[in-house]
Amino acid sequence: MKIMKFGGTSVGKPERMHQVKDLITRDNQKKIVVLSALSGTTNALVGIGEALAEAKKDLAKERIDSLHKHYQSFYKELLKTDAARTKAEKIIKEHFEFLNIILKISFNEAINRDILAQGELLSTKLFYTLLQELDVPAVFLPALDFMSIDENHEPELPKITEKLKSILVNFPQDRIFVTQGYICKNHRNEVDNLKRGGSDYSASLMGAAINAEVVEIWTDIDGMHNNDPRIVDKTKPIAQLSFDEAAELAYFGAKILHPASIWPAQKYNIAVKLLNTMEPDAVGTTITAKEQGSGVKAIAAKDGITAIKIKSSRMLLAYGFLRKVFEIFERYKTSIDMITTSEVAVSVTIDDLSHLKEITKELEKLGTVEVDKNQAIISIVGNMIAESKGTVANVMNCLTDYPIRMVSYGGSRHNISLLLDAKLKNEALKSLNEGLFQWN
Ligand code: ADP
Ligand code: ASP
Ligand code: MG
Repeated sequence: MKIMKFGGTSVGKPERMHQVKDLITRDNQKKIVVLSALSGTTNALVGIGEALAEAKKDLAKERIDSLHKHYQSFYKELLKTDAARTKAEKIIKEHFEFLNIILKISFNEAINRDILAQGELLSTKLFYTLLQELDVPAVFLPALDFMSIDENHEPELPKITEKLKSILVNFPQDRIFVTQGYICKNHRNEVDNLKRGGSDYSASLMGAAINAEVVEIWTDIDGMHNNDPRIVDKTKPIAQLSFDEAAELAYFGAKILHPASIWPAQKYNIAVKLLNTMEPDAVGTTITAKEQGSGVKAIAAKDGITAIKIKSSRMLLAYGFLRKVFEIFERYKTSIDMITTSEVAVSVTIDDLSHLKEITKELEKLGTVEVDKNQAIISIVGNMIAESKGTVANVMNCLTDYPIRMVSYGGSRHNISLLLDAKLKNEALKSLNEGLFQWN
């Protein structure tokens, strides 16, 4: 069995949904088809939630109506028969009635998560209606029946596995199962989600649950590129990556993959393929356990980073100092991305600022604290680059014009990370692109 996940742009237009139908019926293999919301829908739902959180009901209503209009024209282009169109009208009516009812009740975070779930519910139901219209046999699999997260927001893989398997045994003859990415239930049995871009994570969790042969992530680009194509003009796809390399790139900003989506596949050794819905025969990127190739393979960048430096003469020759620092971050459930130390100071970076005030206050008990916001991490990734001669020199040669705030080297054999002012990120990425790759 395999997983085929299609992102927002892959289902965002009626003709693309038809293409998805062609792709899932190309072979006769059993598959779970995981869909995102139509492109733009989750952003629109976030906007509705924000308007409601600020008690701007008119604005929320305007946003609901505009999204509603989009779906009303979408389904007419998607479906041809009266029977299918009647079904689609009913689906759209049900979900927009729900959004309109929310306007009348008092808003809270649980309701917000319900709002965010509407996108994937709509896309999968409309797609399933298309399959019915075209007589493609398929089973509709509600993700809320089996996808769950615990109180720490971590997916409950053993539970997911048990539930999903117990559902699938009821359909021994069926070949196509359609389900939602992104959405799940939380420990309070409320509707929740796996954070923005989370459909990739859903796909790899489902892949791990059913021990899939492969998890295919179908998107709008022909695989993982060697640099951020939104920023750098000249980029190229990478045919092969190891799990570690892909995880580093995803974690450090390559938007094509949700940062957590590699670990479930890695744990069960399931290949992940990144493929282009618009160019289905392009090679794409295959991610497996195999470590191969040499030199720098790709660069990724993540902004919205804050650097915190704790300086203390007490650190000098003292043991236990770092533990005290890390305990503070642990208490506030704030994860650290990069660390550098000297004898009298330690610098760390974080991207979640929800508890910055409390963390700073506690750190001040240990020493002098400096906080620098608006930083960016640039990660240079490749097989064993931390052990290959000259790589660091080449990287630094590309960046002679840019002040580097932190360098992390040797933590992983596959990664060199640098921290600099976010304003310099784009130029630094371009300069590294010219200096580190062969362009003929
Ligand atoms: P989907 O909606 O299919 O999940 P996303 O927008 O989440 O698609 O991810 C695909 C996008 O990721 C691409 O269109 C591209 O702009 C962006 N991207 C950022 N970094 C990279 C990279 N290194 N390689 C490929 N795509 C990247
Ligand atoms: N629809 C969700 C988002 O836009 C999840 C996803 O597309 O992966 O973030
Ligand atoms: Mg995505």
